[in-house]
Amino acid sequence: MSCGVLAIAEQVNGVFRKVTYEALSEGRRIADGLGCSLSVAVLGSGIKSNSESLGKYGADRILVADDALLEEYMTDTYTNVIAGIVSKEKPCVIILGASSRGRDLSARLSARLDSSLAMDCISVRLDAGNVIVTRPMYGGKILAELTLEGEPRIIAIRPNSMKIAESQKAGAVEVITADAGVTALKFVEKKLETGKMELTEADVVVSGGRGMGGPDYSSIENLAGLLGGAVGASRSAVDEGWRPHSDQVGQTGKVVSPNLYIACGISGAIQHLAGMSSSKVIVAINKDPEAPIFAKADYGVVGDLFEIVPLITEEIKKVKGL
Ligand SMILES: Cc1cc2nc3c(=O)[nH]c(=O)nc-3n(C[C@H](O)[C@H](O)[C@H](O)COP(=O)(O)OP(=O)(O)OC[C@H]3O[C@@H](n4cnc5c(N)ncnc54)[C@H](O)[C@@H]3O)c2cc1C
Repeated sequence: MSCGVLAIAEQVNGVFRKVTYEALSEGRRIADGLGCSLSVAVLGSGIKSNSESLGKYGADRILVADDALLEEYMTDTYTNVIAGIVSKEKPCVIILGASSRGRDLSARLSARLDSSLAMDCISVRLDAGNVIVTRPMYGGKILAELTLEGEPRIIAIRPNSMKIAESQKAGAVEVITADAGVTALKFVEKKLETGKMELTEADVVVSGGRGMGGPDYSSIENLAGLLGGAVGASRSAVDEGWRPHSDQVGQTGKVVSPNLYIACGISGAIQHLAGMSSSKVIVAINKDPEAPIFAKADYGVVGDLFEIVPLITEEIKKVKGL
């Protein structure tokens, strides 16, 4: 059996996504359990100096593919480079974040490498050399345990579900030759929403649904801002045109796992729950005491969100001395 764990870093403009540190920390734990080393692959352009910091999260080796062709993420080029690294390093486990990019990349890698892939894993354990992952299925109705077979096994972890642990490792940086291969794709344009916290990485998400009654989300934005969190929305709110699709939480939106999820005026349809039920603490504010969201909530407030949200905001301000 080959050994070695390979984590795949995710960076945007040289800044690593939080899920990279989660993947590395979990990768370290798996590598220790299997008695092997942990490498991390970093792809991008001009990213060598930033990559050195990854040793702090447990990487023994930091494999940097620094190439102008890799400046922007493209499925083909990234798959080609990582497949090249895998064929050389022969890891038994590959771990990365199940972010939008990670989902895309892991699926393509799985097909290219003919490997097993578990998406959206919330925990990983080892049992006599077997790698067993837990992942929500059927919109979060069940938690399934899967044993991954073959090598390498690809584990895509749900952002915000693994502990970040710093380590004493120094982590040596090795610049590797990147073979981006041929691609029929051409990068044309990137549009970034600036100053907005990434929903999947936020520790706190405050979401508004159809109960918001219109596009004025200022009360939700104030509360989210005060808590250092991000604003989310249900599909109904997005379909109404009140919020952009990038804010949608749920089966056809983003999957979030924050420490605190506050659902305001959201009924709790199964498709919405699929995107937030693994949040650590769920608070629901809804004027209908029968709303299904209360069955999932740790704390529920039956009332009008336009009264409750400002009251909570004021209380938090008092606690914070603002
Ligand atoms: C294939 C498919 C995929 C889908 N994907 C998603 C998805 O990714 N994400 C998603 O969210 N949905 C998704 N849906 C839609 C989903 O089924 C629901 O229709 C949607 O989640 C409902 O949104 P909502 O809770 O905001 O609206 P509603 O169900 O209309 O609920 C509004 C709630 O607001 C409460 N309310 C109203 N006014 C107030 C007030 N002033 N104060 C407090 N509470 C108030 C009401 O009591 C009610 O419970 C999908 C559906 C399908 C079929």
